[in-house]
Amino acid sequence: MVFALSLADTLTDYTTCYAEQMGLGKWEISVAFAPLDDTEAATWADPNYYLAEITYDTAAFERRTDRYVRWIVAHELAHIELWELGELAAKYNPEWGLRLEEQAASRIARWVALRGVCGSPIPVSR
Ligand SMILES: [Zn+2]
Repeated sequence: MVFALSLADTLTDYTTCYAEQMGLGKWEISVAFAPLDDTEAATWADPNYYLAEITYDTAAFERRTDRYVRWIVAHELAHIELWELGELAAKYNPEWGLRLEEQAASRIARWVALRGVCGSPIPVSR
């Protein structure tokens, strides 16, 4: 896939746009890029100060579709919204709690990202 913007710019734009649409406007969300082990993106959040950071491993997105990139962005943003719930669930049952929070993030991402209302679709060339 060839991205109209650089992949980093696309991920940053989608993060900003979907954060706004998901009602995360009061959060200060930084975007970082770094190689990650066994995942394409990782999120950290501090709900007390409305601070969050999403790290994307751009190499992991090189062959992904626009739809998938949007889904990952919305999924990571959903982790911010669910952060406290995830911590609480993990406290009572680490395996089950984290799995439930992960599933909730994926469901939210499907609802939000697949509407495709942020940015123009990334042109695909083969
Ligand atoms: Zn996740």
